[in-house]
Amino acid sequence: MAARMDGIDVLVSEVGPRDGLQSIAPVMPTAAKKAWIAALVAAGVREIEVGSFVPPRLLPQLADTGEIVAFCRAAHPGLHVAVLVPNARGAEDAIAAGAHKITLPLSASETHSLKNLRRTHEQVLAEVARIAAMLAALPAGSRPEFEGAISTAFGCTLEGRVPEAKVVALAERLVGLGCDEVGLSDTTGYANPAQVKRLVKAVHAAIGPERMTGLHLHNTRGLGLANVLAGLEVGITTFDSSQGGLGGCPFAPGASGNIVTEDLVFMLEAMGLRTGIDPDRLLAARAILAEALPGEPLYGFVPDAGLPLGFARAA
Ligand code: ZN
Repeated sequence: MAARMDGIDVLVSEVGPRDGLQSIAPVMPTAAKKAWIAALVAAGVREIEVGSFVPPRLLPQLADTGEIVAFCRAAHPGLHVAVLVPNARGAEDAIAAGAHKITLPLSASETHSLKNLRRTHEQVLAEVARIAAMLAALPAGSRPEFEGAISTAFGCTLEGRVPEAKVVALAERLVGLGCDEVGLSDTTGYANPAQVKRLVKAVHAAIGPERMTGLHLHNTRGLGLANVLAGLEVGITTFDSSQGGLGGCPFAPGASGNIVTEDLVFMLEAMGLRTGIDPDRLLAARAILAEALPGEPLYGFVPDAGLPLGFARAA
């Protein structure tokens, strides 16, 4: 964690190449992914979730994740390369490919977990234990970070309200089984700022603030940046976002999926919080994305409106 926070106040973790691309029908060519990632790195992005180790028949959009991880390790030595894995099998691939960070999603809603992963909480937690054992067997220096990401933490499209006590209990289990960190994901875009503060504080009280530094927010109902502000106020220092809000939301036409990287970086820098990311160079990366995915809607206010006259990055 330490090195990628050097000289910055907030880490913007780009998840477009995973969360964005897995949510759209077209398959982005590998060469275009590499060009996009290179442009993001040139803009100052320090951490990118570059893919997911799931069977290609389930997500053909991410079938080249192994090659993308290898490319990032070779071409962008400063980049922190993160991947998602659904199980221990995926973690094996992630370790072999050389990922720096492995994230395993666990849905707070068991209904959601059964529908999406066909696994109960206990079955997913057994995978967590398997992965932790696998990582513990590696030499200390080559051991990727392991995050347990609690999805549908703020509400579920199938179960509705998710009890906060359940999220806190799962966070405790994840740390107990060997996750270095826990993240909270608003997979469904249900979160509101008061809820973000309440739940972050509750999880911090249970596992310690140093074990929960990141939020994964969606902008489905337009509250994404308000939720970021709420997170900042309770000590969150890492926010996932996706360039152009890629992926959208099939249930809310016109709504971006993840919060939009361009708007997030603008907000943080304008508030005096250093991200290390140059908003102008971010637009060059967006142009590559737009060209590689013709017709795919890209979101964000700042790319349309431009930066305000006299805008200066945080110093
Ligand atoms: Zn997401």
